[in-house]
Amino acid sequence: MEILDSEIKEFQYLMPTKVIAKANAIDNLSSLSVRLGEKPFIVTGKKSSKENGALDKLLNVYHNAVVFDKVEENPSIETCDRSSQICRESGCDWIIGIGGGSPLDVAKVVAGLATNSGKCEEYFGRDLFRNNPLPILAIPTTAGTGSEVTPYAVITNTKTNTKQTVADYKVFPQIALLDPVLTLTLPHQVTLSTGLDALSQSMEGLVSKKATPISDCLAIESCKLIIHWLPKVLKEPNNIEGRYWLLYSAMLSGIVISQTGTTLVHALGYFYTLHYGVPHGIANALFLIPMFKRNIRFLPEKLKPVVSFLGEEYTSDSPEISIKNALLRLFDNIGFSHTASSWGVSNENLIQFAEQLYGEPYRFRNQYGEFSVEELYSIFKESFEL
Ligand code: NAP
Repeated sequence: MEILDSEIKEFQYLMPTKVIAKANAIDNLSSLSVRLGEKPFIVTGKKSSKENGALDKLLNVYHNAVVFDKVEENPSIETCDRSSQICRESGCDWIIGIGGGSPLDVAKVVAGLATNSGKCEEYFGRDLFRNNPLPILAIPTTAGTGSEVTPYAVITNTKTNTKQTVADYKVFPQIALLDPVLTLTLPHQVTLSTGLDALSQSMEGLVSKKATPISDCLAIESCKLIIHWLPKVLKEPNNIEGRYWLLYSAMLSGIVISQTGTTLVHALGYFYTLHYGVPHGIANALFLIPMFKRNIRFLPEKLKPVVSFLGEEYTSDSPEISIKNALLRLFDNIGFSHTASSWGVSNENLIQFAEQLYGEPYRFRNQYGEFSVEELYSIFKESFEL
């Protein structure tokens, strides 16, 4: 089924977050007037915001802040409940999330649970917070998830060993503060993984059933910028201009998925993250070739520009080969090993993963095409191909 370009789309657009982009913004918090209440609760990861001085800079301005600095990667429901309990007891009236997508997501759950009763797992689903959450200032220090401008918190449900989403328009942060200087300390592999995550989000947004004319514009711009800057920044990690554009394009990818949701790439990637600890962005990227070989059959016109940004010629006789070669060219350029085995994934459980995914119909709601268990199994197997 080819989707016609002339199709008239009905859509809505919501992006209520104020974005402040400024190098060294973290040193100018007072003059930027980023204060959303009297006493902030700071949610952050275990190390990086201490090591790069960002946490101290916040505490220099917000003297009475209470800090929760125990957010792990792929944060759990227990971490959300523990931090929310401390926040409730502390009398804080606004939230600062600083770090990668993991602390930003926990910050959103804390904001919601501070004003609503119950536990994190009761809020998996859509728009379940009755009362307005506390206001949130989100300061991303990775350039990947765009969580600073999304209404989602992706949390590991340790009871079911799945990643689930609290999706609620009320947890859009009030302010997203983009300071590229904070991303200069990102290790090579986190730059790689998070850059690929942002690329996945924008590419998936383009081919989502919920894509809109606005999300398409932002997704295309985001793909173009990431493809241009990611290879440069990986070679020159102190390139502040490149860091700025990567942070900006990751934010665009967040605005995109706020409108479009994610598609099967993310749903597939969760299995490798949960079972083998593969970083989120890498896990998604392992499925870009298998899934976009299929997506390009449904939406060739939309993916033509991406093929061209990647420096490959698009051939209408074999669009699958065009997109595959285009992505291979990028992967080669950034030194990304795109076979699942090189990231410690075993091919033993692939059929079980395919069956489990097939049994979760909501994972397919934004995805064009029909996918049987056999087809999903083939996709998992293709993530092992060279
Ligand atoms: P992350 O899990 O937040 O962080 C990954 C690693 O990077 C951590 O070890 C962290 O250390 C480190 N790090 C972060 N900033 C750093 C810096 N400036 N310098 C040095 N190290 C730094 O990674 P992420 O990829 O940004 O977030 C992934 C999570 O976001 C996943 O759970 C994913 O499902 C979720 N996600 C959410 C959305 C959404 O819309 N809400 C969208 C996509 C993905 P510390 O822990 O010490 O800080």
